[in-house]
Amino acid sequence: MPTYVYKPAEGEKGCDYCAGSFETVQKMSDEALKKCPECGCGVRRVIMGIRKGPSQSGFDRKAQEQGFHKLKRRDKGTYEKLY
Ligand SMILES: [Zn+2]
Repeated sequence: MPTYVYKPAEGEKGCDYCAGSFETVQKMSDEALKKCPECGCGVRRVIMGIRKGPSQSGFDRKAQEQGFHKLKRRDKGTYEKLY
């Protein structure tokens, strides 16, 4: 069964259990939790990203492994080296 990560919803302080984030194992068919099981505050499910960063696609990862570099355009004529 997949593990889901939850965080307190925006504006919610949360409790010791949920304040940072907490994980719970649920069936795919289960509905997302709306409340913390400990304190009852609103929570939202966090989509788990790829370890290397949520914006990095599999293509980027492969390119990086092959030794390619990627530049990200910041301003006119200014490029940031991503890897
Ligand atoms: Zn809580």
